[in-house]
Amino acid sequence: MSNKPVVTVDLGGTNLRIALVVGDEVVNRHIFPTPRGAEAIVGLIAQEALAISSASSSDIEGIAIAAPGAASRKLGGLSKAPNLPELNGYPMAAQVTKLTSLPCIVENDANAYAAGEVVYGAAKGMQTVVVITLGTGVGGGIVLEGKLWRGVDGSAAEVGHICIEENGRLCGCGAKGCVEAYSSATSMAKLAREYGVEASSAREAYDLAKQGNEAALKAFHRAGTALGIVVAGLVNTLNPQAVVIGGGGSSSFDLLEPGIWQELKIRAFPVAVENLKLVKCTLKNYAGLLGAAALLRGLA
Ligand SMILES: [Zn+2]
Repeated sequence: MSNKPVVTVDLGGTNLRIALVVGDEVVNRHIFPTPRGAEAIVGLIAQEALAISSASSSDIEGIAIAAPGAASRKLGGLSKAPNLPELNGYPMAAQVTKLTSLPCIVENDANAYAAGEVVYGAAKGMQTVVVITLGTGVGGGIVLEGKLWRGVDGSAAEVGHICIEENGRLCGCGAKGCVEAYSSATSMAKLAREYGVEASSAREAYDLAKQGNEAALKAFHRAGTALGIVVAGLVNTLNPQAVVIGGGGSSSFDLLEPGIWQELKIRAFPVAVENLKLVKCTLKNYAGLLGAAALLRGLA
């Protein structure tokens, strides 16, 4: 398989990050505010990709875009893009190729993140892995026998909306009891405040918990057990080698871990837990960029 440099794009609703991945290194990284309109987005990606590739000393393999929404390989774009509605159904990859003459793929951002951690990060060398990201929401990616599992319509691994409590906390999706309403970084901060902790962010609540604040510790334990119920369900279903916890909320990993293990021990099949690794991500902000490159290279 080719290991030529890949231009990778991490496309978000607010920012567009573009970089060159050489081997497993992210170089020449630039950040732009995401322009509005499909043609403006594709135009900026093409322009910057050409600039990066002309500055590179070796040939470029192609362009890999990680974007928020359900990614369709057939379309070469997003079939559903709630955060960037202008890209709904737009053939992004074909347009980028037209402007650059380089092969292009579009992948779901959480899936790209997961591929990054599995190919180059915390689960390097492992074949069957679940990655759960704790950010504004809770997302995920599943790699089965070395291949990313996209699902029939490209929307697999939306683990944030697995229900842990039938009539539980209200989730942003409109349903009740989704794990996202307990264990996202945003929800951790909210939980802590409901438990009486004066913290405006998960980070502040974490610092208080580390100083021994009982209410803050209780909030992180609850976020951990909620996540643990989901992890146990996924372990029972997929019997993975590892579960990787990523995203900004993973900086609270040490406080979440006991709650996750508690539920794993109660709910998961002992044989599946015996050799299971529960680990924190290692690539941080680069996981999406590296994972998109890995997917273009056919490594996941
Ligand atoms: Zn939900």
